[in-house]
Amino acid sequence: MSLRFNAIAELHTYNTDVGKITPKITEVFGSHVFNLTTARKFLSDEAYKSLKASINAGQKIDRNVANQIATGMRAWAEAKGVTHYTHWFQPLTGTTAEKHDSFFTLKGDGTPIEEFDGGALIQQEPDASSFPNGGLRATFEARGYTAWDPSSPPFIVEIGYGRTLCIPTIFISYTGESLDYKAPLLKSIDALNKAAVDVCNYFDRNVEKVNATLGWEQEYFVVDEGLFNARPDLVMTGRTVYGHNSAKNQQLEDHYFGAIPERVYAFMRDFENECYKLGIPLRTRHNEVAPAQFECAPIYEEINLAVDHNTLLMDTMSRIAPRHGLRVLFHEKPFAGVNGSGKHNNWSLATDTGVNLLAPGKTPKTNLMFLTFFVNTIKAVHDYADVLRASIASAPNDHRLGANEAPPAIISVFIGEYLTKVLNEVKDRVSDKMDEQDESMLKLDIHKTIPELFQDNTDRNRTSPFAFTGNKFEFRAVGSTANCANPMTVLNTIMAQTLKQFKKEVDALIEKGEKKEIAIMQVIREYIISSEKILFEGDGYSEAWEKEAEKRGLPNLKTTPIALDAMVSEKNTKLFVSNGIYSHAELEARHEIELEKYIKKVQIEGRIMGEMATSLILPPAIRYQTLLSQNIRGLKEAGLPESAYASQKQILNKISEHINKAGDLVEKMIEARKICNAIEDTRTKAIAYESQVKAAFFDQIRYHVDKLELLVDDKEWYLSKYRELLFMR
Ligand code: ADP
Ligand code: MG
Repeated sequence: MSLRFNAIAELHTYNTDVGKITPKITEVFGSHVFNLTTARKFLSDEAYKSLKASINAGQKIDRNVANQIATGMRAWAEAKGVTHYTHWFQPLTGTTAEKHDSFFTLKGDGTPIEEFDGGALIQQEPDASSFPNGGLRATFEARGYTAWDPSSPPFIVEIGYGRTLCIPTIFISYTGESLDYKAPLLKSIDALNKAAVDVCNYFDRNVEKVNATLGWEQEYFVVDEGLFNARPDLVMTGRTVYGHNSAKNQQLEDHYFGAIPERVYAFMRDFENECYKLGIPLRTRHNEVAPAQFECAPIYEEINLAVDHNTLLMDTMSRIAPRHGLRVLFHEKPFAGVNGSGKHNNWSLATDTGVNLLAPGKTPKTNLMFLTFFVNTIKAVHDYADVLRASIASAPNDHRLGANEAPPAIISVFIGEYLTKVLNEVKDRVSDKMDEQDESMLKLDIHKTIPELFQDNTDRNRTSPFAFTGNKFEFRAVGSTANCANPMTVLNTIMAQTLKQFKKEVDALIEKGEKKEIAIMQVIREYIISSEKILFEGDGYSEAWEKEAEKRGLPNLKTTPIALDAMVSEKNTKLFVSNGIYSHAELEARHEIELEKYIKKVQIEGRIMGEMATSLILPPAIRYQTLLSQNIRGLKEAGLPESAYASQKQILNKISEHINKAGDLVEKMIEARKICNAIEDTRTKAIAYESQVKAAFFDQIRYHVDKLELLVDDKEWYLSKYRELLFMR
């Protein structure tokens, strides 16, 4: 029996652990995290204070204190059954990395002991040569090291009986170039903090720190593991490269917010419980639009922690799903013809005085502060839309953006009716000759409009890639497999740059004798006018918008190799270098890495398409073809009239045509890949892979294979079908 039918036969056997009670969340929450509360119990006053100062103000921890912290951490971890530790980091592969070492060691005289010192906590040397580095190793130094990031707390991961202490780290080369997602994120948080505090101080002198906050929403698919294993494409690429639509998919819209299937529900409870132990504050779970698609979201957190928690969530889900005989798919487009998955990034700014800078205020004065940050965000997105687009570019996300289910590749901002009104008021009423009375009248009028804004929040535009949703912006074009760090680094950086510029312009007006608040309003007005064309309230999925955007001069970069150009443009290089996020060499390296990732993904998909066509699709099709022709010959020989085998002939005709076309196209695609592989320049090669391999062949080959799926005897077909993957569990 084939893997496919085996899997179907097994489906009814899964135990959904009905009746098993999950523990109360508050009882387990954070139990596997070495947070400050835990640290307080395991550290001396000196060590605790030093750790706290390092978390809050980025102060350096000296070696002696690090030894004390390490000892306390080990005591805590060992009490929980931990034997090993690892530096946990986020290399540019897109997954997380770890290399476990045991606390166990031998002393000089052979005495076995357990040990974990400050040195091991602060720094390790994984082999950097096995991670993507975009040529940085060649130019600089072969070795890299991981360095402890005290701002994200250590945690314990349980795998089977084993427990490992994971220390969040950044990954850098010996000469200091960052080789991961986290180091630049931390730099961008710093840059944004400085710029935002300066602007905040116009309104409130007490603000000393501003942090970005992130609340992500993770979409994913869940499929049966047996059915998954019967699909080499899912196993190798996370997406079905073939598969005809099932008779029913999402047209009845009966899945969204429906009851969660029991087996999936058991999986959810299980992974949520693991997440709670790890301190991930998951809050919501529900079905998504496509069948077998779901979403979960936490309470928002400081951005650094939120990024770690998202990668940790994805790891945890992938690890736990097989316990339930399931597989989770994070791919942006695992199934053609049904919605893909994204990861909305809800982003805002919070002060150390407890104010959300993107939430409308309670007084006219705090509303001016809100307006300042609100308009600066719009201006940032307007000025740097291209690099924001680049930050979400990837081979899998190309399948989703602009495919009528996700925001298009055009970056625009949605702000809603009432804020549009507010911006128009500012535009019309602020002028060079404005006096204090005009200013306070306007401030009051703006303030009056704000309460209406809260009603407006419910009326959300789901088609916008970057939408204001009442007290935060929601960046919706992020792909479901993406590490949030990359888009968030860019968003923080462009915001820092815009706020710096804003301060400069306001200060210049103040210097000329303008009153502070009038100066602020004047610059806000300028920003509204100069970034107006990025605002769009209509249907982002429509063709009309593509045309309109073109008229407005907004870029619509549909493919990754081209979208990535923005990473290294002169303007954006200056942006990153001057804000201390990336050096020129780091940017070039990252650009190279992203292009290489693109090439490899398309290459792997191309290979698996070819391999599956020849070894899994054509064999049953040819067997059926033989059967049909034998049948026709037999009937003919028996003297039956042509009408007796007319439909067999028709099927045979069709099958033969699709077999020939599919076989022929696979050969041609292999030739095209060879030509692409010979290209030296990475960008040219990526563009060639996109146009000469992916665009030229993927859909065409798929068309014939999917036709064969409908024609060939179902019991002969090896691959799990969409109706099984999406509806059976
Ligand atoms: P919904 O959009 O479903 O109505 P919410 O507006 O409460 O729900 O939140 C959606 C997402 O936005 C959640 O993941 C939440 O954590 C996040 N979020 C809410 N407020 C903020 C904020 N100030 N900063 C960042 N993320 C936020
Ligand atoms: Mg959302």
